Amino acid sequence: MIDTHSHIYLPEFDDDRSQVVHRALEAGVQKILMPNIDEESIQPMLDLESEFQDICSPMMGLHPTSVNDDYKKQLQVVEKWLERRSFIGIGEIGIDLYWDKSYRTQQMDAFGIQLNWAKELHIPVVIHCRDAFPEVFEVLERHVDNDLRGVFHSFSAGCDEVDRIMDYKTFSLGINGIVTFKNSNLREVIRNVAPEFILTETDAPYLSPVPYRGKRNEPSYIPYICDHLAEVYGMGKDKFAQLTNENANRLFF
Ligand SMILES: [Zn+2]
Repeated sequence: MIDTHSHIYLPEFDDDRSQVVHRALEAGVQKILMPNIDEESIQPMLDLESEFQDICSPMMGLHPTSVNDDYKKQLQVVEKWLERRSFIGIGEIGIDLYWDKSYRTQQMDAFGIQLNWAKELHIPVVIHCRDAFPEVFEVLERHVDNDLRGVFHSFSAGCDEVDRIMDYKTFSLGINGIVTFKNSNLREVIRNVAPEFILTETDAPYLSPVPYRGKRNEPSYIPYICDHLAEVYGMGKDKFAQLTNENANRLFF
């Protein structure tokens, strides 16, 4: 199995980071993909890559909640890194208007700029979208073509959004612990999505699946999400795990 979205470089894991990776391996999670947040998170993320080569793979990008007055400067840092070496994807990028709407225009600009880089480099994008689907679709539709592919990470919106995303044909849905929550209707929403478009992720340290809801999340919990999804699709657990593995490999490697 692959955890396609994990922030295990964050301070929440300072005390037991190595054990967290080893627990993931023991649970059958062979790869942990790490989306970047901002300037601050780059070094801890790259340190983890050097320690666990072939397991922890970094992406590069500027997270929408880190977009503020100096976002152009922050984007220069991201761009320099993209010139310096290869990354498996541009992420995480997108628009988040849940906490703060004051940088809406700047977030849309930063998102568009980073979508262009992904196209130039032929690598996928990892999209973070919270309370901002109209804005994300607006920017995406200015850039989308057969070359632009990626995933809507932590997807938990409705059927209208699913239909619009599936129309692009090059975008998948990243599903995490939300699908295991009793009060979520995500199971019904994704039931008609072909399982070839589903990726598994934890979004650790956030959004732990049941039975760990409310606690710190970690990549070794991927099987809880994977098994739950196998049930949604009426597939065997092993077969579903293998399928989502292929989905992630096709997009990122
Ligand atoms: Zn994230």
